[in-house]
Amino acid sequence: METERNEQWTNWSGSLTFEPDEIAKPEDEEELLELIARCHEGNRTVRTVGRGHSSTPILETDDVLVSLENMTGVVSHDAEENEATVRAGTPVGQVGKELHDVHLGMRNYGDISLQRIGGAVGTGTHGAGPEITNLSGMVVGGRMVTATGEIREFDESDPELLKAARLSMGTLGIFTELRLDVIPTYKVQRREYCTNVEDFFDHVDDLVRENRHFDFYWYPRSDEVKIRLLNPPGGGSSEANLEYASLVKKETDWSHEIIPEHDELERRYDEMEYAIPADAAKECFLDVRERIRENWRADVGWRVLWRTVAEDDTFLSPAYDRETVTISLLQNAELDFWDYFEDIEPIFLSYGGRPHWGKKHTLRAPELEERYPKWERFREIRREMDPDGVFMSDYLTALLEGEADS
Ligand SMILES: Cc1cc2nc3c(=O)[nH]c(=O)nc-3n(C[C@H](O)[C@H](O)[C@H](O)COP(=O)(O)OP(=O)(O)OC[C@H]3O[C@@H](n4cnc5c(N)ncnc54)[C@H](O)[C@@H]3O)c2cc1C
Repeated sequence: METERNEQWTNWSGSLTFEPDEIAKPEDEEELLELIARCHEGNRTVRTVGRGHSSTPILETDDVLVSLENMTGVVSHDAEENEATVRAGTPVGQVGKELHDVHLGMRNYGDISLQRIGGAVGTGTHGAGPEITNLSGMVVGGRMVTATGEIREFDESDPELLKAARLSMGTLGIFTELRLDVIPTYKVQRREYCTNVEDFFDHVDDLVRENRHFDFYWYPRSDEVKIRLLNPPGGGSSEANLEYASLVKKETDWSHEIIPEHDELERRYDEMEYAIPADAAKECFLDVRERIRENWRADVGWRVLWRTVAEDDTFLSPAYDRETVTISLLQNAELDFWDYFEDIEPIFLSYGGRPHWGKKHTLRAPELEERYPKWERFREIRREMDPDGVFMSDYLTALLEGEADS
C-alpha cells in the first residue's frame, strides 16, 4: 500500500495544517480492511480524507490519515431503478461523467466537481434547489469498513443506520462504495443576471418557486447581486419577468458539465455557512446584510451566497426535517476571517441556524444537541459502531460528545 510518512498536511484553504504519523492510500477494500484491523488492534486512530476541501478540523489527526484516492469509478448501475454504485474515492465530476456515459445523471451538484463523493456526502454538501436534497440525501445504501476492520453494508433494510451513515463525517466507518439515487441524464440551461438587493429582493419567493435551481450572490461592497437560474432548457422564470435584472450569461449543456465548476479556483477563501429554516431566511439575510454593511463592508473582499435545499431525514443533515436556505459568508483566505465570522454567527444562531459541517463555525456538542432532534440517536449509533473511538479525534469528541478539544 502506498504510504507517506512525516508529511505535513494542509487543507484546501490553507487554514488547517497538521502532521499525520502516516498517510495511507489503499488500492482496494482488502487493503483498507487489513489497515483498519491493524489500527484497531494497535489502539491507533484513523481519519479519512476526501479531497481535503473541508476547513473544520474534522480531518485532523496526528495518527493515521486514509485517502481513498486510488479507489475510484462507477462500479455498476441500474437504469430501471435509477441507481448507481460508485467507489467512495471518486471525484464528484468523474461520477457525473461516468454516469452520463450510461445515460444517467446526479440530481444535483455543489458549486464545484472536485470533491470526492465520500467526502462530499460526509458533510452534507449541497447545491441549490428547493426540491433537491443535499448529496447525502441521495445515498440509498453502501458499504463501509467498520472500526474493527470488517465490511458493513447499509441500506433501507436498516433505516436508522442509513439515516445516520449518510452524513457521519467518517465517524461510523469508511465508505468504500455508495449507492446513489440518480435520474436519466439531462440538460440544463444556466442563466445569470446582475441586479441589486433593493430591486430584486421582493421577487425572491417567485424565483424560488419558478426555478429548478435559483441562488444568488450578494457583494457587500457594491450591494450588487448576481442571480443564477438553472432549469431544463426553456424552463424557469420567463425572461420578461426579470425586467429588474440584466442577463449576463446564458448557456445550455449536460448537467454534469454546467452545474459545477470543474477547474481549480484561482483564489482560495474561507467560509462560514449556516442552514436557516426557509421561512425565516429572508429576514435573516437582511439582518446579516445590515450587520455586514455596518461593521465589515470595508474588510470583506468576497461575497455572501444564498441557496435553497430540500428537507430530508438524514439525522445530522442541516436540512433535517425542514425546508432550508443556506447563507454563506466567504472571505479571502489571506485575510482575517474569524472576527468577521464570529460577529455574524450569533445572527445565524438566533434564527435556529445549523452549521455546515465542513465550514468554519464555533459550535460544540452542547449547542449542537439542541439543534438536531436525532442527535442522541446518532450518538448511540456512533458509539455502537465505534466503541473504542478508532475514528474519533479530540475535535470530534468535543463536537459530538462534548468533552475533549484540541
Ligand atoms: C472551493 C469549494 C467549494 C465548495 N462548494 C460547496 C458547495 O457548493 N456546497 C457545499 O455544501 N459545500 C461546498 N464546499 C464544502 C465541501 O463540499 C465539503 O467540505 C466537502 O465535505 C468536501 O469534500 P472532500 O472530498 O474534500 O472531503 P473532505 O473535506 O476531505 O472530508 C469531509 C468529511 O468526509 C469524511 N470522508 C471523506 N471520505 C470518506 C469516506 N470514504 N468514508 C467516510 N467518510 C469520508 C472525512 O472524514 C470528513 O469528515 C466547498 C468547499 C470548497 C473548498
